Amino acid sequence: MKKIFLGAPGSGKGTCASKVSPRRNIPHISTGDLFRDNIKNGTEIGDTAKGYMERGELVPDEVVVEMLKERIEEEDCQAGFILDGFPRTIPQAEMLAKITDIDAAINIDVPNEVIIQRLSSRITCKDCGEIFNLRDMRPKEEGICDKCQGEIIRRPDDEPEVIQNRLKTYEEKTAPLIKFYEDRGILKHVSCDQEQPPEEMAQAVLATIEEFSKSLQEEVSGVLGLSDNE
Ligand SMILES: [Zn+2]
Repeated sequence: MKKIFLGAPGSGKGTCASKVSPRRNIPHISTGDLFRDNIKNGTEIGDTAKGYMERGELVPDEVVVEMLKERIEEEDCQAGFILDGFPRTIPQAEMLAKITDIDAAINIDVPNEVIIQRLSSRITCKDCGEIFNLRDMRPKEEGICDKCQGEIIRRPDDEPEVIQNRLKTYEEKTAPLIKFYEDRGILKHVSCDQEQPPEEMAQAVLATIEEFSKSLQEEVSGVLGLSDNE
C-alpha cells in the first residue's frame, strides 16, 4: 500500500511513520533523508539539489519529485511505501499523482497546543537528523545521538516563537491537501486529542491502515462478486 502521512510539523507523523514502516514491511521515505542521502552519496540529482541549497534557493519541486521517482522505483518499494514530508502543497500533490498512485493519505490530527508543547521540547541530531524529545525520548547520553554519536541541538525551527509561524504556514499551504485527498476518497483521520506517547499513536495509525486496507479488499471482492452474477 502506498501511503502518505499528513500532519502539522510536530504532529509526530515522522515518528509514527518510522514505527509503522517495519510492521507493515514497507520503507519509510522521508524527503529530508532522501536529500541527505543523495547529497552524501554525490548522486547527480543530489548535486543538483546541493547547488540550489548552496545558492540559498529553494530546491524546485521538479528536482524533489525526480529524487522521489528514483527512490520509489527501487525494489523495496514495489509492495508500497510511506511518504513523509511530501507533498506539502497542492502543486506537489499533483506532480506526485503523475508518477505514482497513492492508495491512502493518513492525516495525523493533533491540537495546536499539544504541538507547541511537543515541538519546544524537541531536539535533533545535527548529523543524521534523528529526532529526540526532552520529555519522553531523551538520548541515552546527554547531547549525543544514539544512532551516529553526532551532536544533538535544538533546531532554530523548534524555538517556540518560530513554531507559531510554522503552524500558520502549514494551515495555509498543507491543510488544503486534506481536502485534495478527501475528494479522492482516500483520506483517513487519526485524531490524537491529548498528549499520547508515540507508541500509542503508531498503534492508532496501524489500526486505521488495517481497517482501510480491509475495506479496500472488500470493495474489490464486492466488484468481483457482481461480475460473477452477471
Ligand atoms: Zn545522529
